[in-house]
Amino acid sequence: MDRNEALFDRAQESIPGGVNSPVRAFKSVGGVPPFIKKALGPHLYDEEGKKYIDYVGSWGPMILGHNNPAVIQTVKEAVDNGLSFGAPTQGEVLIAEEIKKIIPSIDEVRLVSSGTEAGMSAIRLARGYTGRNKIIKFEGCYHGHSDALLVKAGSGLLTFGTPSSAGVPADVTKDTIVLEYNNCDMLEETFEKEGEQIACVIVEAIAGNMNMVPATREFITKMRELTAKHGTVMIVDEVMTGFRVALHGAQSLYGVTPDLTMFGKVIGGGMPVAAFGGKKEIMDCIAPLGPVYQAGTLSGNPVAVACGLATLKAIQEPGFYDRLSIQTAKLISGLVQIAKEEGVAFSGQCTGGMFGIYFRPTCPASFKEVMECDTEKFKTFFHAMLDNGVYLAPSTFEAGFVSITHDDSVLNKTFEAARKAFKEVRK
Ligand code: PLP
Repeated sequence: MDRNEALFDRAQESIPGGVNSPVRAFKSVGGVPPFIKKALGPHLYDEEGKKYIDYVGSWGPMILGHNNPAVIQTVKEAVDNGLSFGAPTQGEVLIAEEIKKIIPSIDEVRLVSSGTEAGMSAIRLARGYTGRNKIIKFEGCYHGHSDALLVKAGSGLLTFGTPSSAGVPADVTKDTIVLEYNNCDMLEETFEKEGEQIACVIVEAIAGNMNMVPATREFITKMRELTAKHGTVMIVDEVMTGFRVALHGAQSLYGVTPDLTMFGKVIGGGMPVAAFGGKKEIMDCIAPLGPVYQAGTLSGNPVAVACGLATLKAIQEPGFYDRLSIQTAKLISGLVQIAKEEGVAFSGQCTGGMFGIYFRPTCPASFKEVMECDTEKFKTFFHAMLDNGVYLAPSTFEAGFVSITHDDSVLNKTFEAARKAFKEVRK
């Protein structure tokens, strides 16, 4: 038994399923997850000392690669000043100003510690602001695990084939309307019938929790028109896409100005920082200014904020997103080409440093098409890649991430592994 297996056995004695977030348990691909000891640049190292090229990047935050020297130095300096004060700090002002500078739709921003909190709070705020109860979300989109949003959510839930979670009272989700992603007619019909009762629409403009499925421009434009017409708050969830698909987020690619935006992942650079922000008129409804309550002991934690701020500075280096996009595009075109040469039905797409790979001939445009991906082939591919030192997300329903440290030599090693893995798939 190696150290990973021994730790996984031990973990299961004291942690449910041995993990602190379900997808890490490898349930949908089988096998034992490597226990990660350290990471550097594009690489992870497990407890056995085995090295992997990492395309998970802690599920998105590690856009600079692991252990970026400037970020680590900043964090060390912040630690020297104390870990947490529960009082206002200069860092919070600086990061809020930085977010406002980068994302034009943000007048004001409130920091929280996870994307889940950002989603839960944004929805409470939209309800408080509009005085309405109903909300719209889309099948396959995930906005964290707060009760009202755990309705046919994506990612882990898709993997486990469960439509919603036990423990969520029907009363809590009765006001959550779940519509098909990229279905303009359905959205229009719903607004015609119930528009005046809908507090908000929440959407991933580029969905990353049913693998990667970009919204059509028509869908996002229609959503903006309908929400504006009916006084409904449009919330774009950029927890995954923010500072990842482009410096100015998915909203910049769609040319849309949401009322509220959620951030997470990259904004904390690997530490627990998330945020929601947007129009002043709406944001001013939050306590202490307004009647919508929201709070957090560790919100705006000085060490986490220092890490986030250093990350936000680094991604604004000239040419950063060009380089990131080029490497990600090279990865996808390389994988698609090798699959073709090996005779495997496979497709892929990417935006900025985010990508989707699919065991089906063409990229999916809907939740239904994502469900048509060949999960057995993915499993074989996943394990062959892992055996050959490439760490992909352990589920066919997850997007992947490239960091700025994924250079050509890293891509070439990935292609060598992929050639072997596609041969396994074809067997
Ligand atoms: N929103 C989106 C789009 C996400 O991808 C995630 C997490 O993957 C969340 C919200 C929830 O964020 P967290 O895991 O930090 O609670």
